[in-house]
Amino acid sequence: MQTIANYIDGNLIEPQGGAYLDNVEPATGKVYSQTPDSDEGDVQLAVDAATRAFQGWSQASASERSDAMLSLASLVEANLEKLARAETIDNGKPLWLARMVDIPRAVSNLRFFATAILHTSSEVHFTDGQAINYTMRQPAGVAGCISPWNLPLYLFTWKIAPALAAGCTVVAKPSEVTPMTAFMLSELCIEAGFPPGVLNIVHGLGAKAGQAIVSHPDVPVISFTGGSATGASIARTAGPMFKKVSLELGGKNPNLIFADANLQAAIKISVQSSFANQGQICLCGSRIFAQRAVFDQVVDGLVAAAKSLKVGDPLEEETKQGAIVSKDHLDKVLKCIDLAKEEGGTIHCGGDRPPPPPEGLNVRCKDGFFLNPAVITGLGPGCRTNQEEIFGPVVTVTPFDDEDEAITMANSTVYGLSSTVWTSDLDRAHRVAGKIQAGTVWINCWLLRDLRVPFGGMKQSGVGREGGEYALNFFTEPKNICVKINHT
Ligand code: NDP
Repeated sequence: MQTIANYIDGNLIEPQGGAYLDNVEPATGKVYSQTPDSDEGDVQLAVDAATRAFQGWSQASASERSDAMLSLASLVEANLEKLARAETIDNGKPLWLARMVDIPRAVSNLRFFATAILHTSSEVHFTDGQAINYTMRQPAGVAGCISPWNLPLYLFTWKIAPALAAGCTVVAKPSEVTPMTAFMLSELCIEAGFPPGVLNIVHGLGAKAGQAIVSHPDVPVISFTGGSATGASIARTAGPMFKKVSLELGGKNPNLIFADANLQAAIKISVQSSFANQGQICLCGSRIFAQRAVFDQVVDGLVAAAKSLKVGDPLEEETKQGAIVSKDHLDKVLKCIDLAKEEGGTIHCGGDRPPPPPEGLNVRCKDGFFLNPAVITGLGPGCRTNQEEIFGPVVTVTPFDDEDEAITMANSTVYGLSSTVWTSDLDRAHRVAGKIQAGTVWINCWLLRDLRVPFGGMKQSGVGREGGEYALNFFTEPKNICVKINHT
């Protein structure tokens, strides 16, 4: 059985306490590797290494940092197939998805920020002919980067890439539920000759290793992606320590389908936005609101498409829905389905486990954590099913009569991460987009991403924005230098 190691000061090392956690393959339900159960001592070693490396890395030229990151990106790309397979085994997502999205995006994250720093500019402000102000941006120090399990290497690199590019050194913790590709990245760092101590990866539990990073006095900047409750706990620790914090949190994203939309496209993409990655993407549209005139058509289309999605072994090419990430998470999603029934919802399809072999799942996957994708109607926007994040292959569909009602329903949760609007009326598209409380509004599309745009949530979906200059700015401290002009 493979044993994962921490990556500290350029070396792969065992956790100091010698304790390990079981790492389970979701498709089989079997333990297949051991992950370090790191503690404060391991985090201390990592922070020490990152602090020592900070001087050299923060003062390296942008092109030196860029070259090191580009070498790493090339190695990730060269190992795409190996990493994609590892991601699938670790997370349960279909192999084609890891191959097409997760790993290529990790390469793009590294390349995007490695090259962005070669093209930045500085701000200058002239003060009424009396002074010139210029703004320096200096790396903020040792950055703590904590990422979740749903898009493991994709989101891990989305955090560490801007931090490293900006000149910070990093102590990072991937989710202990999906540690494998971050571990493989540390092996690639060694192969790439990445400078020791610049990136340190400590594996383990959020409440122990994660908390030790967040509360460490020598880690002044924390970038976190995960659930809103964890985000609140991190803010409670980091706030009184005056740390810079970026929080990318949960969502309950509305997907508005107006009667004038291209319904074929709306339904096709809504199937993806509801169920991609087993619905375990923070940007999934889990609440569909369809205008009454097309409501039945939307429900019928979604149900037919959801039923046709093949649920099964994520390593098989024809699989569209892999396994849910863990037994705990599957149980949570099943409870949400029960709640939807209690609240009076009609389950049109899914919400149950696929049959065992020989009818359904193959023998390898008989104990895996699978769930058929569910489409639910008959629930009002205020019920718990439509208010609380489920983060699984479950979507509700609710009718609305007019634009105002659609906007009210869309904005009726504590979340504000993203939203989709389907309409062929350009004026309506802009009008509705302006009124929706969300950090991102997609019009007639979903998950079309440009790495330069601001990415993040309003309300309980987060604090701050990632992406492009927003991320580079987050990992740096602006310093204004004011030079007086003497007029003799
Ligand atoms: P969690 O909040 O449970 O965990 C996220 C990470 O934080 C994990 O590495 C976790 O470790 C760690 N962690 C947990 N507790 C602490 C703590 N007290 N201090 C420091 N670190 C801690 O989220 P999940 O992993 O369950 O991910 C799913 C959530 O992430 C969903 O709510 C989803 O919406 C959100 N998400 C948001 C995105 C966005 O961009 N807005 C993108 C993707 C996901 P451990 O695994 O050991 O618990």
